[in-house]
Amino acid sequence: MRNASIHVKLQTICLSLVCALAIPGFAVTPQFTQETDAVVVGAGGAGLSAAQTLLEGGAKVIVFEQNPFPGGTSNVAEGIFGAETKMQRDHYFSVPVQTKDSLFKHEMEFNHWKANASLVRWFVNQSADTIDWLASEGVPFEEVSQTTFDGVRTWHVIKGHGATLVKVLFGKVKQNPNATVMMETAAVDLITDGQNNVIGVVAKNKDGEIRIKAKAVILATGGFADNPEMVKQYAGNSFSGSVANFHKVGFGIKMAQKVGAEVEGMDVLMNSAVYDKKRPAVPGPANPTDLQFDAVSQQPMNIMVNVDGERFCDETIANNFILQSNAIARQPGNYAWVIFDNNLRRHYADDGIDGGMGVIVPAGSKVEKFDKALDQYVQEGDRNVFSADTPEELAAKIHVPAESLRKTIAEYNHAAAVNLDEAFDKDRHFIKPLTGKLYAFREVINYLVTGGGVKTNLQMQPLTKDRKPIQGLYVTGQDVGGINADTYGLSSPGTSFGFAVGSGRKAAQAILATGKAVVGQN
Ligand SMILES: Cc1cc2nc3c(=O)[nH]c(=O)nc-3n(C[C@H](O)[C@H](O)[C@H](O)COP(=O)(O)OP(=O)(O)OC[C@H]3O[C@@H](n4cnc5c(N)ncnc54)[C@H](O)[C@@H]3O)c2cc1C
Repeated sequence: MRNASIHVKLQTICLSLVCALAIPGFAVTPQFTQETDAVVVGAGGAGLSAAQTLLEGGAKVIVFEQNPFPGGTSNVAEGIFGAETKMQRDHYFSVPVQTKDSLFKHEMEFNHWKANASLVRWFVNQSADTIDWLASEGVPFEEVSQTTFDGVRTWHVIKGHGATLVKVLFGKVKQNPNATVMMETAAVDLITDGQNNVIGVVAKNKDGEIRIKAKAVILATGGFADNPEMVKQYAGNSFSGSVANFHKVGFGIKMAQKVGAEVEGMDVLMNSAVYDKKRPAVPGPANPTDLQFDAVSQQPMNIMVNVDGERFCDETIANNFILQSNAIARQPGNYAWVIFDNNLRRHYADDGIDGGMGVIVPAGSKVEKFDKALDQYVQEGDRNVFSADTPEELAAKIHVPAESLRKTIAEYNHAAAVNLDEAFDKDRHFIKPLTGKLYAFREVINYLVTGGGVKTNLQMQPLTKDRKPIQGLYVTGQDVGGINADTYGLSSPGTSFGFAVGSGRKAAQAILATGKAVVGQN
């Protein structure tokens, strides 16, 4: 009983402290070390777009970035989705026209109408304006491309890729006298008033704790792809890791959840099938030779077999790394063996690959690094790359039943001879008989980014369980859920990076529209 009454008293004291903070016009208290109009947490594509838009609207902004460099995953993205853009109109008018309406329908049908239709509609409709805005900021575009054979040209590839966008926007934000950029400073908590409105942020760096009072806080922390426990919790255990580690561990989503935000689609990942490379002890930039091995492992002329030595798909889906990884995820052990012969090795090295791995290893690339390293990788014996003179010998090396692999290859060669793949209806243009020396790579599934996150309204405000927006808080980029339902779409590419930039701008515009976050206004 005594403990209970102490507990009640403590609660009362805490409550009155919180209420004091909530009094309108309450001066900066010792609880706050600084005051500003808006705080942006994370300096990736979403955060920088938000910060620059706020600054252009005259707001005072503090940006926190946990890494010593800006940009996060946005540094390695290549292109941005756009519908009915000037570039599409000027350069690709002869290509069947993809309108905002058709692309909206395409996105929703791809997602079986399980995505947030209003958010998707808004996203598609604003995409051309966002690309115009980026161009007006000085972000140079190279081409409007597609990523898959059946894809549409929505992918506005940036010259120098995402790193250029980061450089341009970060340069502008940093130079603005109304901006304070704090690198190596991680936001760790939100500060709320007594009514659960967000009124500030707590961040930490090597000098200690910083408590900022702000009229608005934008979360742009890039999702949780670099938090293996969270990925395991939400998406399962079949993944071998993230493609690019920028320490995105789910801070934004967790902070929003702590103040009552709902999440959705937390199991959706932008996944990819990649060659199971030897990982360096310390994660570093991708090895260009291994990138070519990845690209070769995504070629439609290969075959793929599972641990039973059996094919399990039309391998032309390898041109869409999401579909390839979805098919591999279904296989026992969640991996596959990619198999090709010496004729294909020569084709990839001498003529060039048929399907590009984005524009990182574009279609048509003559993969010389792969060709030079292949025999060395086989000899090293610990690179998940094998070669053999017969199917039976290969089967022994990759531990699949010999008779099964012999039969699989014989049936495939028969399909090549009769121009008909009865097993999976693979396009005959991509079926070549496998003869002579054979090679096998172990193919596993990775992910590029997480796709689930906080439920928001169209102002990018997080919603509570009873669909009420949490005031003072905005969520953007990969911290938002609802754009994809069960898997990521590559056939109208650029939606992930495009959403980051578009949602960052939108949150900033929504804050500016409240009239609160402009210097001198209260
Ligand atoms: C190899 C690769 C290629 C890709 N290519 C494309 C493409 O061509 N098109 C496309 O649409 N998508 C692509 N994507 C996905 C795309 O990169 C992301 O969707 C996009 O960059 C997400 O932007 P963001 O701003 O939400 O997150 P990020 O760019 O990752 O930025 C988040 C930032 O927040 C910081 N941060 C995290 N937590 C905190 C904290 N607590 N405090 C302070 N800072 C914090 C991080 O350090 C990071 O800098 C690709 C992804 C990969 C890995």
